[in-house]
Amino acid sequence: MLKYHTIPEGMVICPVCAGALRLQGNSLFCSSRHCFDIAKQGYVNFLLQAPKEKYGKRLFQSRARVSQAGVFRGLTDRLGEIARNELERQDLEQRERRSQELKKQGLRQREMWRQGLQQQRLPEGELQQRELRQQGLHQGELWQQGLQQRELQRQELQQQGLQQQAPEQQELQNKATRRQALQREELQELEQQKMAQPSLGLSSGESFHNTVAILDAGCGEGSHLSALVRQLAGTTGGRLIAAGIDISKAGIQLAARANPGMLWGVADLAKCPFANGSFDIILNLLSPANYLEFNRMLADDGLVMKVIPGTEYLQEVRRAMHSKTERGTYSNERTIELFRRHFELVDMQQVKYQLLIEQKELADLLQMTPLAWRATEEQLRSLQAMGEKAPVITFDFVILIGKKIYIR
Ligand SMILES: [Zn+2]
Repeated sequence: MLKYHTIPEGMVICPVCAGALRLQGNSLFCSSRHCFDIAKQGYVNFLLQAPKEKYGKRLFQSRARVSQAGVFRGLTDRLGEIARNELERQDLEQRERRSQELKKQGLRQREMWRQGLQQQRLPEGELQQRELRQQGLHQGELWQQGLQQRELQRQELQQQGLQQQAPEQQELQNKATRRQALQREELQELEQQKMAQPSLGLSSGESFHNTVAILDAGCGEGSHLSALVRQLAGTTGGRLIAAGIDISKAGIQLAARANPGMLWGVADLAKCPFANGSFDIILNLLSPANYLEFNRMLADDGLVMKVIPGTEYLQEVRRAMHSKTERGTYSNERTIELFRRHFELVDMQQVKYQLLIEQKELADLLQMTPLAWRATEEQLRSLQAMGEKAPVITFDFVILIGKKIYIR
């Protein structure tokens, strides 16, 4: 059974009215009484009406077997690497922001304390001067510091030279000395804070400090997401929330059965059941996307990873199935262009490898490959025959890595 208390409050929303969902018995209700049942296998059905299943259970079972055989490991390893780097970067940025905030607070407190001190000790003119100085730029401050130092040196020289000193001059020098002492103190404190910064609020050995949420949109039977979660599990110090949604109930049923610790939902990508900014990483692997929804659900500094076939993906299968003129080659330019209209394409990585595919795996591979669905019986037989020779098949993927576009 899905444990809803493990999901942050407000993360799951009603896909119809976007209202908050409350758990009652084995169902989730919104305030408009839209109701979504939690199935006994541990997934949520977020569809009010079941669509006609486009892909059957067989396709997802095939894909699960192909995944188990390690055919996609090259791809999921790379995805794990990108995700880990990104989560580390996000974590570091958050820590830095927190540390900056603490530093600001510290400085504010010290400034208040110092102002209080000045009001007690310093005359009116000096206070005004300090206020003006604070309003000035840092550069101006440095320049002024230099000026003050020179003034002090000049005064020291003057003092050495003069036996008799005017009382006003003595007073001026005292002020300059006090001011210098304060500046020294401030610099020392900043230096100390800078040194303390990397370890602020952290226990040693901790990797990701915060809860990390990953969504696989169009997850099918969940093989890719579970492979990625296994990879990341050892490296997260915080909590890892993994969610997978797919329009296919057959796929989600398999996913929930094999991976009980994750949040699985039958859902329409056009109406995702998650609140704005819920996810640090959104995956979309060899599956249609809904970029408006991805944008909505992605955290401000989150990352989208879309995997599309490279030009040589399963080229041996394509060659066997189609004549060279028709569908023999594949171009992903349009897909990349569409992605760029919705996200800032920060990186694009290719993962390409060749595997010796045994007959049993080849049958599964063909079963899960859309190219094969239009194949004639004769074509399929010839492809199956390839298996007897254990053909080498090319796996070629392109990972599009995107961030939210900000209009500056
Ligand atoms: Zn609702």
